[in-house]
Parts: sequence; C-alpha cells; structure tokens
Amino acid sequence: MGMTVEPLSQIRIVLVEPNHPGNIGGAARAMKTMGLADLAIVNPLRYPDPQAEWRAAGAQDVLESARVYASLDEAIADRQWVVGTSARVRRIPWPLEKATTVAAGIIERLPTHRVAVLFGREASGLANDELQKCHCHLVIPANPDYSSLNLAMAVQVVCYEIYRQLEDSSLEPGQWDRAPATAAQVEGLIGHFESELVASGFLDPANPGQTMTRLRRLLTRITPDETEVAMLRGILKQLGAGRKG
Ligand code: SAH
Repeated sequence: MGMTVEPLSQIRIVLVEPNHPGNIGGAARAMKTMGLADLAIVNPLRYPDPQAEWRAAGAQDVLESARVYASLDEAIADRQWVVGTSARVRRIPWPLEKATTVAAGIIERLPTHRVAVLFGREASGLANDELQKCHCHLVIPANPDYSSLNLAMAVQVVCYEIYRQLEDSSLEPGQWDRAPATAAQVEGLIGHFESELVASGFLDPANPGQTMTRLRRLLTRITPDETEVAMLRGILKQLGAGRKG
C-alpha cells in the first residue's frame, strides 16, 4: 500500500528501566515491523547485551540507533504529546483510553506533534509520577484476571495499532498558529508554579497535599502551546516581583 512511513518517525518508543535485555531487543523488532525506528531506553539494568541483539533479529539498526537516557525527563524533553501505557487503573484518575482510541489520537497529532509512548518496568510498570507526565494513558484491553502483557508484546500491539490506523488515514495538517509546548517547557512551567506557590504561601511544602498533582493534570489536559506557556511564566514572574517589591 502506498503509505509513507515518514510520519512514523515522529513517534518515539520509551522503555523505562527495563530489566531484561531480551525485551529491549524484542521491542526493537516489534517497532521495525511496524515502521518505527526511534527507541529510547531509560536506565536499563543490562544493556547493551547479546540477548538484546539476539531478540532484535533483523532490527539491529533500531537497536544501534537507540539512545540511553539517565532520566525520563531527558528522554521526553522535546516531545509534545506523551502517552503512558498501563495495565492498571491508578489512584488519581487521568484520561484513560483503549489502544485503538489513543492510536487515533496520536495519528491525528502526527502532522504537528512529536510523540512519545512510554512503557514500564516488567515487574512494576510505570510509577505514578511517570504516568503523571503523560497527556493520556493507554490500556490494551485484556483478560481482567491476567491483563499484564510481556513488555515487548505490549510494544508490538501498540505499534501495530498505530500502523494499521495510519494506513487508512489521510493526515491533515494541523490548524493551530503556535507549536504545542514540549514536555520540558511544561515541566519548566510546573516548576515555576511550584516555587511561586510556595513563595506566596499558597503551598505549604511540609503539607503539599494533591495540589501539584492536580495542577499538573490541569496543565497537561489543556495542552498549552509554547506561547501560552511563555505567557503564564511571564505572569508568574511579574506577580512574584510585585509581591516582593
Ligand atoms: N505488573 C506491571 C505490568 C508490567 S508489564 C503492572 O502491574 O503495572 C510491562 C509494561 O508493559 C507495562 O508497564 C506497560 O507499559 C505494558 N503493558 C503490559 N500490559 C499492558 C496492558 N494490558 N495495557 C497497556 N500496557 C500494558
């Protein structure tokens, strides 16, 4: 079919602290079969490793170009749409959708957004603070009594879902006048809010409650563009200066 794979280069698969090198290789292979090539690995336990190469089979190129990061923030700093995958529902509700719906949302954004899809540790998945960096959470519908897929297989299902929907889609360019804010810009804004909220006495660092989590959820839900982030930071700065002056 006359599909261009170029939009797929906008999608980064991020493995957070995988324990088994075999799963890294398996993920690389899963990606390549679906036309994806941008693999990021955060703090792998064992990597590089012959088991990774062995499981990657014909996808050595994806493995060789994979980048290893010391933190999740670095791996997603330039991303503008971040999806977390999870087999479980978490305590603070976050937008949660099935893989088909999330894949459609990703494809809709490909003309304008650099995307990351995060996958968690084999034993414990993604931590709450990692899931809270995401715009939405993706669940692969599965047996309610045993819903946890092998890591590389979860990567396969998600990449397949994106690939098959992209084949049928006509990518329309986005209409917005400004670039969507990156994860690093939103982190900067949240950090700025936090320090000003503490300085102003609104937030008690000894007893912060859920304020920052709720603010983070609000700021990711509204998906600000980079001009809006700069404007909010300018406002915070002036309000802080006004209080001190
Ligand atoms: N025991 C862990 C699951 C780890 S499975 C937990 O309870 O969270 C390793 C990773 O594969 C998960 O972090 C997630 O990224 C992905 N995964 C496995 N099953 C999934 C499912 N049903 N839906 C979405 N992601 C899944």
